[in-house]
Amino acid sequence: MRTTKTGLSRRGLGTKGAAAAAAGAALASQSPTAFAQAPAVVTARMFRGWVSRGNGPGRTTLQDLRLRPIAGRQVLVRTEATNLCYSNVGVVLGLQAAPTAGARTPATAGLATAGGNDMALLQGHGGVGVVEAVGPEVRRVQPGDRVCVSGTPQCGSCYHCLRGRADVCQLLGRNLPSDLIPVAEVRDGTPVYSNSHIGGLAELMITTEEWVVPIFTRVEPRDLGMVCGCVSVAGLGATTSGTLATLAPGATVAVVGCGPLGLSAVQGARIAGASTIIGIDPIGMRRDVALKVGATHVIDPNTERNVVERVRALSAGPTTRAWAGGRDSGGRRSGAGADLVVEAAGAEWVRPKLEGGPDPSGHVPVRQAYEMCSCGGDVITTALIRGTLELPAFLFAIGGISHHGGQAGGANPMRDIPRFVEMFEKGQYDARSLATRIVPLEDMLGAYEEVAYRTTVTAIMVNG
Ligand SMILES: [Zn+2]
Ligand SMILES: [Zn+2]
Repeated sequence: MRTTKTGLSRRGLGTKGAAAAAAGAALASQSPTAFAQAPAVVTARMFRGWVSRGNGPGRTTLQDLRLRPIAGRQVLVRTEATNLCYSNVGVVLGLQAAPTAGARTPATAGLATAGGNDMALLQGHGGVGVVEAVGPEVRRVQPGDRVCVSGTPQCGSCYHCLRGRADVCQLLGRNLPSDLIPVAEVRDGTPVYSNSHIGGLAELMITTEEWVVPIFTRVEPRDLGMVCGCVSVAGLGATTSGTLATLAPGATVAVVGCGPLGLSAVQGARIAGASTIIGIDPIGMRRDVALKVGATHVIDPNTERNVVERVRALSAGPTTRAWAGGRDSGGRRSGAGADLVVEAAGAEWVRPKLEGGPDPSGHVPVRQAYEMCSCGGDVITTALIRGTLELPAFLFAIGGISHHGGQAGGANPMRDIPRFVEMFEKGQYDARSLATRIVPLEDMLGAYEEVAYRTTVTAIMVNG
């Protein structure tokens, strides 16, 4: 059995000294040989985790759980920090989505059918921590490694991974109730499963190696949890990975929705060298953060008479003379339009306690994102909306706008997440302005309410 120096006792969990020692060991260690295999690992221990079961408010409770044996490609990770993602608000707090056709999100996919609500699920979809044990088939990580448990897997050999689209790795869709395997059990023997094979809102994450990315860094858990959160990865992925669209230095970028994902896109645009970065959000506090982390302009969609026209005007450039390089669109539409638009608004689970947006369904922001884009430009959509979207047909058909949808803003986990961590280490990415609430494991539920009502930009749960 390969374990960390801290052993497997509950008392050994979560100390900063142990984390630093483990991280240090990981930094210094070398893989023994390319074909080495660890022996089988069997563990039995208790740990605490936030488990959802049943319906309605109160469905998520902190439970004492017994870990099941780690086998095959499974990886056991002691959680250091986890971002409280807005997409999980409904399942964690037991809120009902607005009755719109086609509701389906990564966090709830499959759970509305086949009795998924009766399953005991460890909530969350990713986090950061230290590997404590690995199954015999694992080779990507070793005990002692610090890792990001990514919101999107990367198997490396499926149809999509082989074609450069690791963000939509085909393992991602394998999270129906029938795909999950029990990773722990409650005292009465009820099996417990990891949400989306990963979980995150617990002292331990039990996943498989396709979801883990080794991170060789000594960054504090609260910061690493923010940088490696699904929202940061998606925002930085959309603007710096080049998977969905490329962003040229000097470009004009509009970001529709300045939650943690949009604010990461603002930062990615700055890092990539965009000259004009326009942040759009109804919440004043979020517009202030946007200006702090890189936006050159902000727009309040509640007070701006025409958001689309405003963005097109801001991106017009110094001349409208077509034959002199002017950026005017040529008469059919005013102004130029942004070279890249990142849409990151999405549908609301509950009305915010701060300023609510003009459209709780999230459809209007998507349409505006499309309309504010330059001819020849790119629109990347990241937000979760429901129902059927309407777009101007003429513009959609022959307007010269390229739309890109995907997971995680197109980020390739193994290639991009270490790069994002380096952006934080070098002072390029500001994590602390986004992680405006830090809570211990026990206070997770209250922090999730703050995320739901948008009284914080986002929140990080820290374990230990
Ligand atoms: Zn997420
Ligand atoms: Zn794959």
